[in-house]
Amino acid sequence: AHLDRIAAVDGDVNAFLHVNTDEALAVAADVDKARAAGEELHALAGVPIAIKDLIVTVGQPTTAGSKMLEGWMSPYDATVIKKIRAARMPMLGKTNLDEFAMGSSTEHSAFGPTRNPWDLERIPGGSGGGSAAAVSAFEAPLALGTDTGGSIRQPAAVTGSVGVKPTYGGVSRYGAIAMASSLDQIGPVTRTVLDAALLHEVIGGHDPADSTSLTDPVGALVEAARSGDVRGMRIGVIKELQGEGYSAGVQARFDEALELLRGAGADVVEVSCPNFKYALGAYYLVMPSEASSNLAKYDGVRYGHRVLPEDGSLTIERVMGATRAAGFGDEVKRRIILGTYALSAGYYDAYYGSAQKVRTLVQRDFAAAFETADVLISPTAPTTAFKLGEKLDDPMAMYLNDVATIPANLAGVPGISVPGGLADGLPVGIQFLAPAREDARLYRAGAGLE
Ligand code: GLN
Repeated sequence: AHLDRIAAVDGDVNAFLHVNTDEALAVAADVDKARAAGEELHALAGVPIAIKDLIVTVGQPTTAGSKMLEGWMSPYDATVIKKIRAARMPMLGKTNLDEFAMGSSTEHSAFGPTRNPWDLERIPGGSGGGSAAAVSAFEAPLALGTDTGGSIRQPAAVTGSVGVKPTYGGVSRYGAIAMASSLDQIGPVTRTVLDAALLHEVIGGHDPADSTSLTDPVGALVEAARSGDVRGMRIGVIKELQGEGYSAGVQARFDEALELLRGAGADVVEVSCPNFKYALGAYYLVMPSEASSNLAKYDGVRYGHRVLPEDGSLTIERVMGATRAAGFGDEVKRRIILGTYALSAGYYDAYYGSAQKVRTLVQRDFAAAFETADVLISPTAPTTAFKLGEKLDDPMAMYLNDVATIPANLAGVPGISVPGGLADGLPVGIQFLAPAREDARLYRAGAGLE
């Protein structure tokens, strides 16, 4: 049914870069047989899933939304993919994204933009717009995304979906193409909080192949999502993440969410995170710095795209230059240049060094806020989905979408975006943040609001 739905609507939505028809049907048929034979199966066995095309898969191409990797086949599966296979979930295919996950609208994909199923003239968020649009358009019940600065939560918010960024280290990054390694996390994109908890329990847990992987057990996420009991929960409204810069519709749905939570017995308090105003600036130094290093491997020599210089000169510098000039899009080049500059001798302390200090201040803000609140709350994104093309030529305007999602990545804490109703007919997302390793609180609070 989902493959039929993809065939019917994906010409308009463009959520998928690759549809994995044969393998998905084969896995589904095997699960049917196993079920008929009375085999014990995982709760999600046979439930199909879409995979953001930043996560490597055997048997399906992985492009990262870039010409640089067009046609490339990974020789290995990401750890999360191994877990999806072990749970016997059919993979529907690979979803569109901003090139190398850099963007907030999926317009920076080398393979054309994804459109928001709520209004095809609008963006589905980014970078994981393909995963969120697939879930929102009923092309897939579940999807995987990656979140470095909001790329799971912001697309979920503007498509009326649920998106979770787990605690840093809670889900293995092995096989997620690295953007900014100290910020990246894989997580679920779904239609309900319970679905996200079920999927999170499948993909989470320690992985010796990821040196930053936590050794803690995943936690009772499904139980928390089933409960949704917020009585006595202290919910901290982040003073700095509301008001100015937020559209009237978003603010109205946010105020309503607070009323609902109060009505359900939560204790709504105000917290102040004064250093959050520097978080966006720090992120757009740390993230490009790490990306400039991570993307150095696309040199036209080892694998992926290769362009030979027109004048026939075959020095390594010229091949690398021609390959990177043709293989990377404008946004990726912008960030490589920015990151290389921030890391260069003489500027390192002023830019990268300062950004790392701000990161510590943001972590301290969280620590202080979590003394008076169990979870924090804010709108996920400042506005509802904007029109395609509206911010494409204005990087600063694009970056400002991430103001509420980025602090969690800088501090490594988990976050969830849950649907909070509509403003002018378009979805609004409400974000909860919890202390590191307390992901279960997100599911309890999220289900409480849902
Ligand atoms: N909008 C953020 C950026 O462009 C999102 C990145 C991400 O989470 N992958 O950097």
